[in-house]
Order: sequence, then structure tokens, then C-alpha cells
Amino acid sequence: MTTVIEHLSHLIRIPSNSAVSNRPVVEYAARVLQAAGWSTRELPYHDSANVEKVNFIAAPPGQSAEQRDVDLVLMCHTDTVPYAADWADALNPILSNGQLHGCGSCDVKGFLACVLTAVSAAEPAKIIDGLRIVLTAEEEIGCIGASHLVAGNVLRPRRIVIGEPTSLHPARAGKGYCLAEVTVTGKEAHSAHPEQGVSAIFHAARLIAAIESLAARLAEEKNSFFHPAWTTLNIGTIHGGTAKNIVPGLCTFELEWRPIPGQSADAVLESVTTLVTELAGVHQNFHAEVHPLRQQPGFETPADAPLVRTVESLSERPAVSIPFGSEASIFSTLAEEIIVFGPGNMRTAHSRRECVPLAELDAAVSILGNLIQER
Ligand SMILES: [Zn+2]
Repeated sequence: MTTVIEHLSHLIRIPSNSAVSNRPVVEYAARVLQAAGWSTRELPYHDSANVEKVNFIAAPPGQSAEQRDVDLVLMCHTDTVPYAADWADALNPILSNGQLHGCGSCDVKGFLACVLTAVSAAEPAKIIDGLRIVLTAEEEIGCIGASHLVAGNVLRPRRIVIGEPTSLHPARAGKGYCLAEVTVTGKEAHSAHPEQGVSAIFHAARLIAAIESLAARLAEEKNSFFHPAWTTLNIGTIHGGTAKNIVPGLCTFELEWRPIPGQSADAVLESVTTLVTELAGVHQNFHAEVHPLRQQPGFETPADAPLVRTVESLSERPAVSIPFGSEASIFSTLAEEIIVFGPGNMRTAHSRRECVPLAELDAAVSILGNLIQER
């Protein structure tokens, strides 16, 4: 039987950054699952560059991959972030000091290798009713594959385990991720005659100062399971103006916020829109537009949910919250219980330090094996 290290080494060798088709990763998983008697279903679509991407559902022997209402989904994405051109061994798995190194080793081919190993080793008669394995495309560029799955209404799981590196802690809560572009428009003029123009940069500065005050107000609503415990907000880029002696006619900036669970993904957006309206009432010729780009809410499964308790006990690790975005946001409204779980530490991911401890791979195979079989 293929070992978890062999599965993971195969997967790392498959180029899979979000821009290329994920079909080779899906086909690798499909071959392993079909050999174990599973039925599989592909849900292909074309991305914005017309490249084929594939979401994938697999059902255990005797169960149908077409069924919508299911019990437990083990889910992970099939894409990786692009790696640095001078990382020669990105697709060449290397074992050293008890770790397997390579692009995707922990984010998140490690989890996939553990799922494939656990499924191959499971006794078909013992596999729980309503188990599904789901693979998605384009997670790293905005959970696009997962959004297709939800929009298509093809699956309604009661419980979901989403694979991401959590050092084997069940993560039962995560902040959301939201992004907007703000465009402030003024009117260009010779800077010797500012009275003939409207400075988009002065107006943007007023709005940004008001947004900073909003950030301070957001810190008053706390969820103590997180550090920091509130919705954080950042303006990460700003562009405006064309020359030092021209009153700027345009200024744009990117506004990002990470809402705590329970706070609507729209709450900050509505507050910023209100600030724009208020400033327009006070300052003549103030004009700004807020364009939402991403609206993903946070998620939180109760501490005493059976899925959380079971994985805590199997992994012998307490539940945690995660500071990074995941597909849990997309599925949070569908499933009763949702956790994020997997071998490796996200602190190594998205870098050439990426690796996964072999001991955690073995432990994850055993934990998942327990989870998918009647005990
Ligand atoms: Zn990931």
C-alpha cells in the first residue's frame, strides 16, 4: 500500500499554482479513490483566463456522489500559491530532520495525502454513511471553486472538516476576509489655482482619518477567542495624483478588514458608506465610491459541538481559532459543525520554508481513519 509520504511526494511533484489547471491533482486523487472502490464526480468550470478547473466529489463504495444531503465532508483545495523562481526544489520533495519540504507540503497537499492514505486503509464496511471527500480549485485566489460549489447547491453537508495546516489542532473559529476598493474623485487644476480644482487627495485624507476612527470603534466589539479579539482593518495601498503641480483629480485606496464571527461581512462596508455620505454633507464637492471586492464572513462552531470534542480527543489537542482565511467562511452558513484541521504549521506556508512534520502526517492519518469509520 502506498504510504502517506509517497502520496505527498507525488502530489508535490505536480505543478499546481492557481493559474494552471488543477486536473492533474484531481486525477491523482481520483485514481487512488477509485482503486479503493469509491465513486467520483467531476464538476468542471472555466476560470477567467478560460483554463479548465475542476471541483471534485467522491463517495465511498455503495454510496452516490450525486447525493446532496450528506453527513461528513473532508474537504481541501488543490491549488498552491506560486513559488519563487529561484526555489529550485519547490516541486522536488526533500526529507530532512523529520520534515518533508516542498511547495504545498503543508498547504495543503499534506492533508490530502493523509485523506488518501486513511481512506485506502479503511475497511469499506466500516466507513460511515454520508461521508464525502471534496476537492476544490482556486482557493488561494479567493475560494473561487468553493463558491462555485455553494452556488451550484450540489452539496449540503451536516459536518465539514476543511484541511489547512493547524498543527493538528481543531480550529473551530476564524475571522472573515473582506476587501473593497475606494475611489475618491476630484477635479484637476493648475496647482497655482487650487480654487479651480478639487483635490481628491485632501478628500481621501479626510475619509481615511474617519476610517481610522471607525477602526478604533470596531475594537470595542470583542470575541475573546481571537488575538486580536476584534475586527481589524487596514488600508494597504493608496494611489493618487499625476504630478506635483497638478491638483489631483483621482485617489484610490484598498481597504481590507477581517470581521470576527457573528459580525456581518457587510457591517464595515455599511459604516464606510455612511462615512462617505456624512463627509459629502460637510465638504463641498466631496465624491467617493466604495466597491466591494470580497465579502467573506467569519465562522464559529460552538466549543461543545460533537465534531470539535471528537477531534480534540483524537488529536489530544485543544481547539483553537485561526487568523487566516479559509473555505470555512464559504460553507459556514451551510453546515451545522465546521472545523479546520490538518498537519503542518501555516507559518511555514507561502514561503520556501514550507514543510510538514512526518509525525503529524502519521498522526493525521490515524485521526482521519478514526473519524471516517464506525467505532
Ligand atoms: Zn490552504
